[in-house]
Amino acid sequence: MNADDLLAALREILDLSQINTDLDALYDAAADRYKKYAKARKVLDVPSPIAIVYPASVEEVSRLLVMCNEHRVNVIPRAGKTATEGGLENWKDLSVVVDSQNLDRILKIDPYNMQATVQAGVRLQDLEDKLRAMGLTTGHSPQSKPVAKFGGLVATRSIGQFSTLYGGIEDMVVGLECVFPDGHVSRIKNVPRRAGGPDIRHIAIGNEGALCFITEVTVKLFRYFGENHRFYGYLVNDVDTGIRVLREVMVNGYRPSVARVYSEEDARQHFYHFYKDKCVLLFMAEGNKHIVEATCQGIEEAVQTHAAGIIERVDSELIEGWFNHLNWSQKDIDDELAGMVENDSHAGFTTEISADWETIPEIYRNVMRRIKSEFARADDLTMLGGHSSHSYINGTNMYFVYNYTIRCAPEDELRIYHHPLQTIIVEETLRLGGSMCHHHGIGKYRSEWTVAEHGSAYYMLEKLKASFDPNGIMNFGTIFPQEEGMRYVR
Ligand SMILES: Cc1cc2nc3c(=O)[nH]c(=O)nc-3n(C[C@H](O)[C@H](O)[C@H](O)COP(=O)(O)OP(=O)(O)OC[C@H]3O[C@@H](n4cnc5c(N)ncnc54)[C@H](O)[C@@H]3O)c2cc1C
Repeated sequence: MNADDLLAALREILDLSQINTDLDALYDAAADRYKKYAKARKVLDVPSPIAIVYPASVEEVSRLLVMCNEHRVNVIPRAGKTATEGGLENWKDLSVVVDSQNLDRILKIDPYNMQATVQAGVRLQDLEDKLRAMGLTTGHSPQSKPVAKFGGLVATRSIGQFSTLYGGIEDMVVGLECVFPDGHVSRIKNVPRRAGGPDIRHIAIGNEGALCFITEVTVKLFRYFGENHRFYGYLVNDVDTGIRVLREVMVNGYRPSVARVYSEEDARQHFYHFYKDKCVLLFMAEGNKHIVEATCQGIEEAVQTHAAGIIERVDSELIEGWFNHLNWSQKDIDDELAGMVENDSHAGFTTEISADWETIPEIYRNVMRRIKSEFARADDLTMLGGHSSHSYINGTNMYFVYNYTIRCAPEDELRIYHHPLQTIIVEETLRLGGSMCHHHGIGKYRSEWTVAEHGSAYYMLEKLKASFDPNGIMNFGTIFPQEEGMRYVR
């Protein structure tokens, strides 16, 4: 099949208005935020897809996948376009982007059974606004909430800022509907729990468009007690102290919605108005008033236990004010891209990993040491640090943040800066037994380490791909390593 044949086949399934072949739109669809600088400078080295299509029903999605499967056309599912690891990047000449824009209906809000069902193209912010008016919430609040949509949120195993209380998206999804490359539609029913074999929700959750297309999602709901929110902030001596306080709170059974510690460097860019060159530890407690009271007591006791490393308490209003301006709108994303047309700088490239309590400080220290001593362009770094922002009973994450001035051709930036930095972070994490990807997914740019990440369990992942996508048409290069695509990486 060639491009013209593909367009003709698409026209047999969809209305003309559902097929986009505008050249600017196709260029935009060729890559995501991983290559944001190269994209802004118009030097993308990957092929553009042949078309972007907008199916309006599960039947249309199914027919599209059957056609693509038959003719070996690469399919890239798309939602809010906030992907950061190359999940939306195109590595094939014959590709079609299947966008969920027309699957945009909130199907049901059920306050008695505390669940809501939406199509894959519904923006989280749109559902959340409706729920808040009813005194409810999904509890999901990634920084990309104003833009990200349910298909992408579920497909990337996203996590929100209040995860320490509500969990990641995998703790919220009750059931879902998805379509496989052979056109089969699977509906996973909405029950509180079941022991009916392995939990098949997890085949779709986190699949990053590499196994199936998610069309519908049902999530849990929670009562929203905005009036009970309480905030805590502290300046602390070092990251280790902060991590020890986070652990103390968690192992004593408390579930603040937010529990974070920022390194001095990272604190400078978020809390420049009060951080005094120190690390910042912060908490938020929410829920019904009895739980909030107990959680606040738990936080205060944990801080007391580690008082030797705590410098001073910060005014709670400063922490609350900071939270109110944390999310990114589409305008913020567009402005950043526009800025890159003029400025040779990167603000906020990140790599997020996780490990147990014992290992996280070691990974952090090793990464800092290795980057400073091994990274050839260390002098171009304008910021290097990180924060822990999602904690669990057995460990936490570390969100490494690095900014740099770009002193090379735009097309070489990722190879010279981001990739070597990410390599050090991933190598140290895997060497010490952590996970190289806490919440942004593997995309295409961490797929070279997928096998190392999973070890002997990669067998299970590989079998899923072979079984559900035997022709390899779903999002080529995403999650599953492909040598052919490595020329875009290294
Ligand atoms: C400013 C900013 C802040 C962010 N903050 C967070 C954060 O706090 N927490 C977090 O977890 N992430 C965060 N991210 C990353 C990103 O927002 C999440 O990964 C989000 O879940 C992606 O959703 P999306 O709708 O934009 O999906 P897209 O970017 O459109 O797609 C993401 C991936 O999912 C696949 N996909 C999309 N739709 C479907 C579908 N219907 N079926 C199957 N696969 C599909 C795509 O192929 C791609 O691989 C942030 C990103 C930005 C830019």
